[in-house]
Amino acid sequence: MAKKSMLLSDLFHETLKDIYFAEKQIVKTLPKLAKKAQSRDLKDAFETHRKQTEEHIERLEQIFKMIGKAARTTECKAIEGILEEGDEVAELFADGKALDAGLIAAAQAVEHYEMARYGTLATWAEELGMDDAAELLRQTWQEERETDELLSHLAVSEVNQEAAA
Ligand code: FE
Ligand code: FE
Repeated sequence: MAKKSMLLSDLFHETLKDIYFAEKQIVKTLPKLAKKAQSRDLKDAFETHRKQTEEHIERLEQIFKMIGKAARTTECKAIEGILEEGDEVAELFADGKALDAGLIAAAQAVEHYEMARYGTLATWAEELGMDDAAELLRQTWQEERETDELLSHLAVSEVNQEAAA
């Protein structure tokens, strides 16, 4: 499997397929999170991010085009594991007061995975002289970061107190 001829451009392509897979799982999961969330603000946050995630997928498809490759996925075991843990928490805390706190924690793990991937991809794109791709990747990275911050804000401002009472 390992080939010495694999270059940064190959790594970029492989990682693009990984995050493309992840985003496709995430866009299916966000409506479920919105449905489960008890806080109105949290429901809205998940719904807003679902729309953003559709754009993330479109941006990735644009980047596949830029590098002249078909938009394909490769299984991302990391996101499968993160989403599975989210399901477990949601099940364990279903209808309980700590449910929303658990959903936020699960969603933040997702955002951090995405931030890690997009940060790396943007840097590689710059390295490879693909400024337009880098710009798209940075845009998405920024939206993941803002979502993470919004979730932190919701946790601290309302959800955690609700869970502790
Ligand atoms: Fe995303
Ligand atoms: Fe995200």
